Amino acid sequence: MDYKYLNNMLSEMDKDLSSKGMSRRDAMKLAGISGAGLFMGATDVSAMEKDQLPLKKSGVDAKIVIVGGGLAGMSTAARLTLNLKNPNITVIEPEKLSVSYQPGQTLVAAGIWDIDDIKYDRDDFVPTGTKVIEDRVIDFDPTNNQVTTAKGQVIDYDYLIVATGLQLDFERLEGLEEAGRAFSAGDNSRLHKAIGDDGICSIYTAEGAEKTWEQMQKYIEKAKNAKDGKKVQFLFTHPSTPIKCGGAPKKIMYLANARLKEAGARDNAELTFYPNGGAMFGVPEYHDAIHGQFKREGFKWHYRHNLVGVDKARKVAIFDAKWQEKGPFDPIMKDFEVISKHERKEVPYDFLHITPAAVAPREVGESDIGSAKGWVPVNKETLQHVKFNNVFSLGDIAQVPMGKTGGSIRKQYKVLVDNLIAQMEGKKLPSKYAGYTVCPLITDIGTVMLAEFDWTVKPTPSFPLDPTVERWIFWLMKVYALKPMTMYGMLAGKA
Ligand SMILES: Cc1cc2nc3c(=O)[nH]c(=O)nc-3n(C[C@H](O)[C@H](O)[C@H](O)COP(=O)(O)OP(=O)(O)OC[C@H]3O[C@@H](n4cnc5c(N)ncnc54)[C@H](O)[C@@H]3O)c2cc1C
Repeated sequence: MDYKYLNNMLSEMDKDLSSKGMSRRDAMKLAGISGAGLFMGATDVSAMEKDQLPLKKSGVDAKIVIVGGGLAGMSTAARLTLNLKNPNITVIEPEKLSVSYQPGQTLVAAGIWDIDDIKYDRDDFVPTGTKVIEDRVIDFDPTNNQVTTAKGQVIDYDYLIVATGLQLDFERLEGLEEAGRAFSAGDNSRLHKAIGDDGICSIYTAEGAEKTWEQMQKYIEKAKNAKDGKKVQFLFTHPSTPIKCGGAPKKIMYLANARLKEAGARDNAELTFYPNGGAMFGVPEYHDAIHGQFKREGFKWHYRHNLVGVDKARKVAIFDAKWQEKGPFDPIMKDFEVISKHERKEVPYDFLHITPAAVAPREVGESDIGSAKGWVPVNKETLQHVKFNNVFSLGDIAQVPMGKTGGSIRKQYKVLVDNLIAQMEGKKLPSKYAGYTVCPLITDIGTVMLAEFDWTVKPTPSFPLDPTVERWIFWLMKVYALKPMTMYGMLAGKA
């Protein structure tokens, strides 16, 4: 943990708390958690402290290659380094800013943080002894235990960890074919050129988050000055694929709403959510809570609308809208048939926030380690590849249900390291990932509903509090505590 950073964070937090007439101790009491728990965003503090120092390092010797040096890849490298006597680890990662803090993109997009608050240099987080190859893997050959890079290097391994994250597929949208596919970090100039600066934005890239704030201010200003009674239309989409942080498409809507209210312009704006699915959230308790919040804030929503295109010239979003109708009676099934229908629907926008479809990078999805859906098929509990025993995967690229968050990675990387070392030692795999994930759903500037859940599709709260209630204390956790926990805890292999 970087103590200078921690001290700055605590003093910022104290300032915020004292402006509300509260001490840090009172705030913790209110949340019912210990200081360490609050600052580490942690669930099980004693387990976390136990995790910090392995009792015994393994002496097993083998070459481990990690493809992708983002949050998942670098945290795993750090934890392996802590658990092996003679770590022999190579990370292959093309981007210099690969460990930048993606959850902060939402806050940048609402003008709460600056872009510099989330930019982090990969090389400051490389564990001692780990070798970094600044290149992209373009071919995986798991039969011969080799990968090939774009610069033509062929690299052998004994064990492979695939942590390439996912790609943002903007090019599938009609009218945005030129945008190509993007990663959260790196040069996304092609995407931003295609999107332009006339109301379309997306918080899913770091640069896009900055541009979202520019566009948001522009259309808030428009709403502020609207005199003709015509409301400024703010549209927010959610695609048909699994995405990183399922709550993010709504978080940006809540934050736009907060900024509109703050500007006194809310009455001149209409905010509408267009999700592909038929619910606000996969967990019924959180769905109900969000539904209530949407009604309270005067939002509109239309389920089963998948964004398929944008007509930039006419400022129209194009959706594939789906519904079901009752068909003829089936005498064999003794029930009415259900007929699925869909139609193309055009919706005018002023401000359009796009959550892009998420896909596996082609070099992964179309290789022997990929699957029909592109994601790397692993046993969802052990994170070991279903075909190749010496290949493991975690993070956004792993084919694990509901697992595309930093919160999931925080559980997965410890399981993966335990299991990989056991595999290297010829032992039975000891650890299981239980599907935990978390979405700190920002519902306003100053409140967060901490939606924690797992594969049981039930809330799994870490704190003795009703998880469906929006709380200021979780806002403090989101804004001040989760970043240091990630950057100096997880990326050190400890939190
Ligand atoms: C807007 C937004 C909000 C979010 N909010 C939250 C939140 O509130 N809470 C939360 O827990 N999570 C949140 N997340 C999700 C979280 O940030 C991600 O799940 C996490 O960063 C994924 O880590 P990763 O290492 O799997 O992928 P990444 O961090 O994307 O890293 C993958 C790396 O692999 C590299 N790579 C790709 N292909 C190759 C290749 N062929 N060869 C070599 N390297 C390659 C890439 O360059 C990249 O650096 C949010 C994400 C976004 C975008």
